[in-house]
Amino acid sequence: MDAERLIAARARGVDASAIRRVFNLARTLKDPINLSIGQPDFPVPEPIRAAAKLAIDEGHNGYTVTQGIERLRARIAAHLNADLGWTIGEGADEPALLVTSGTSGALTLAAMALLDPGDEIVFGDPYFPLYPAMGVFNGAKPVMVDTHPDFRLTRARVSLALTDRTKAVLLNTPGNPTGAVASHDDCKGLLDLCRERGVLLISDEIYDEFTFEEGRTERSPGGAMRMPSPARQPGSWRNMLLVRGFGKTYGVTGWRLGYAAGPRAIIEQMAKIQQFTFVNAPSVAQWGCAAALDVDMAPMVAEFQARRDLVLASLRDVTEIEVPHGAFYAYPHVPPGMTGQSFAEACLARNVLLLPGAAFSGRDEHVRISFAAPRDRLAAGLEVLRELFTGS
Ligand code: PMP
Repeated sequence: MDAERLIAARARGVDASAIRRVFNLARTLKDPINLSIGQPDFPVPEPIRAAAKLAIDEGHNGYTVTQGIERLRARIAAHLNADLGWTIGEGADEPALLVTSGTSGALTLAAMALLDPGDEIVFGDPYFPLYPAMGVFNGAKPVMVDTHPDFRLTRARVSLALTDRTKAVLLNTPGNPTGAVASHDDCKGLLDLCRERGVLLISDEIYDEFTFEEGRTERSPGGAMRMPSPARQPGSWRNMLLVRGFGKTYGVTGWRLGYAAGPRAIIEQMAKIQQFTFVNAPSVAQWGCAAALDVDMAPMVAEFQARRDLVLASLRDVTEIEVPHGAFYAYPHVPPGMTGQSFAEACLARNVLLLPGAAFSGRDEHVRISFAAPRDRLAAGLEVLRELFTGS
């Protein structure tokens, strides 16, 4: 059998080589300073671990209902109410909620529910690598809007990219790989534009808790200082799909848990597809994370902000670097004459692992530094990077 002949265009159409090349090279290193990882390095808070263990012992090991267990749904609903003023409910005039297998699960279901062959989905470049795949997997066209050099997805930039085939605009704030946090005006402008054009705004807010002081410019109905979001606009849920997750915030990326909230007609289609594919988000993760939203992660976020400051202190005077206001990534420009790939390879030769811009962008002019690494490792890695940036 010629297995290659059998492979579908949707699989061929996605290229993961930039990341794979780095990880293949990394396997040859003994104890690399790993600044490539997209997950927190802190231990999972005890109440979350305890709730998951208890769930196993109490026999919550079978299927759950597709939409997610009631305890978790109620906790998410209360959180969205305090944070955004949204009232999740069963009524026709209320936003609906679906618990999903990771944030990726929510985004994948949304793409399957929305995109037909020939449709278009619009997002900023640089982007999280799943975004182009969301289009390609469904025969739809990923339309990338250049956001260099400030990495802002603005109404003005997006409006030029909309056509009558556009189904959705995808915002990621705080952003991977740049750490950029959308401003109030950017969020409002995008939601207004999507409303006017009758397309869905999808807001991937997986890093929402990892917003640093400068990014926390809005007061939630519950009184907390939070990042701007299109979901803070009155009645926003009618025109947007909010996607958030538990993996990054609580250090449980392997548990695969996220959720989507928004218009009932879309959530119901996503739930139907989930029923036949993922079936339900992992049961034990759902029980564990029902305890998560009561855990205060502020000390962890403060630690990440301090690490962000370390990155800036080391690199700001030697390269062009936007100040990340959230997530745990910095995205500096590489020196003239180098590509992201060649710079990442030079780092590898010095035992430091990071990802080239090619993994996140049509341009390969940057590298992504993850500062989700212990301070001593981060400091050692930054020393090497600084030398490479200054050519010493
Ligand atoms: N969106 C963004 C912007 C991400 O960075 C990631 C994970 N790196 C995801 C979605 C997927 O997260 P999850 O592990 O919850 O599927």
